[in-house]
Amino acid sequence: MNITELTVHELQEKLKNKELTITEITKAYTDRINEKEKDVQAFVTTLTDTALRESEEIQTKVEKGELTGEFAGIPIGIKDNMCTKGIKTTCSSRMLENFIAPYDATVVEKLNKENMINLGKLNMDEFAMGASTEYSYFKKTRNPWNLNKVPGGSSGGSAAAVAANMVPWALGSDTGGSIRQPSSFCGVVGLKPTYGLVSRYGLVAFASSLDQIGPITKDVYDSAMLLNLISGYDEKDTTSSDRKKVDYTKCLKNNVKGLKIGVAKEFFGEGINKEVKSSLQRAIETYKNLGAEIEEFSLDIAQYALATYYIVACAEASSNLGRFDGIRYGYRTKEFKNLRDLYKKSRSEGFGPEVKRRIILGTYVLSSGYYDAYYKKAQQVRTLVMNEFDKAFEKYDVILTPTSPTVAFDIGSKSNNPLEMYLSDICTVSLNIAGLPGISIPCGIDKTGMPIGMQLIGNKFEEETILNAAYTFEQATKFREKYKPGI
Ligand code: GLN
Repeated sequence: MNITELTVHELQEKLKNKELTITEITKAYTDRINEKEKDVQAFVTTLTDTALRESEEIQTKVEKGELTGEFAGIPIGIKDNMCTKGIKTTCSSRMLENFIAPYDATVVEKLNKENMINLGKLNMDEFAMGASTEYSYFKKTRNPWNLNKVPGGSSGGSAAAVAANMVPWALGSDTGGSIRQPSSFCGVVGLKPTYGLVSRYGLVAFASSLDQIGPITKDVYDSAMLLNLISGYDEKDTTSSDRKKVDYTKCLKNNVKGLKIGVAKEFFGEGINKEVKSSLQRAIETYKNLGAEIEEFSLDIAQYALATYYIVACAEASSNLGRFDGIRYGYRTKEFKNLRDLYKKSRSEGFGPEVKRRIILGTYVLSSGYYDAYYKKAQQVRTLVMNEFDKAFEKYDVILTPTSPTVAFDIGSKSNNPLEMYLSDICTVSLNIAGLPGISIPCGIDKTGMPIGMQLIGNKFEEETILNAAYTFEQATKFREKYKPGI
């Protein structure tokens, strides 16, 4: 049996039947990390030694009956923008190279309560700004399906680690597509929950009105389980939604008969790669055969979503990143003449080029002369986007689109062209603008053997609907059984 190829629910089965022990599982993962990390470069910090130690402690407690719980001893990887007490949280930035948070993010606290094992902190684009993980200050993560390709971003480390079987599952964050697009590029399942479903407390803020934490997993069942673990009201996050807890595994019915799926034609037009398009068309046929009702419709406003996103996201980022001043957090320049010089040099040296670009753009759209023309206008368009989705969900249960217009691209091919990089998120950003949930699941591979992702969008807090739609497709198509990354 190849332990690291198993999903988390399969691992749990084997633990229950005593076919495997917690230490055996952790050992298999730490061995895999030691073997593959040199190729994949998914981690900023690996915690293999502490993980092994913890697994032995947990194993002993479980044997003595002092510990129960179905997630005790299950390993996980965490994107490096979620605070972990006593362990570095770098955001893949020089600014936070040596930052150790004094507290755990709420999601991390929740995992710790289950006695799960942290295998390490995963690489990302600096401050989650990017779509390829090439903007990390530390390293470029590689795509396990082809090491010359990017894994997507910004949660590229998380998606690559799951695809390369270096972690059984991981947490990512998504501001404009950063869970879904890398999941699509790496052939795994990525879920961005509804805004407010998962606490953002302890997630280093990029754009607070768009950011959400979510699961990156090998299959849909694991996605539902991890969402169960991390969702729920948190008084420490004022945007957290106070709702009844749901068991998301209960909605996986393997049945989409009568499900109304809207196919937004704007997402199948110009700029979408031909093979991506035909793979999605096959997926639509599969849904039809499974009894879903498919209808094409127009989501006209979607064409303005990317511009709106980059105005809102940069505006919020420029404000959020104001705290990194060389005094309160992170990097401080070695020599300076006065306070102003200290700010200027610390920020100039601590931030990379993409982060600077966003801060400049953000302060520009917020400046008094341009606020009305850009920021206010973007907020108005944001409302129109929300309204148009509201209208669509009066007719459809799910909206189906590609996750990204292309498959994973070559390392270095877009890193000098920010606009092209931004276009990678054309299908994902509108959900963040509207606060909606979306899941990306693999739906095929292209001629070069790279995975293609399908995005299913749900109405607010309708995670159950998209999880079931994704699950049913997965059961019918069995992507994981047919295709595996080369690594
Ligand atoms: N790629 C998008 C950006 O660069 C989205 C990033 C994200 O979701 N964190 O802003």
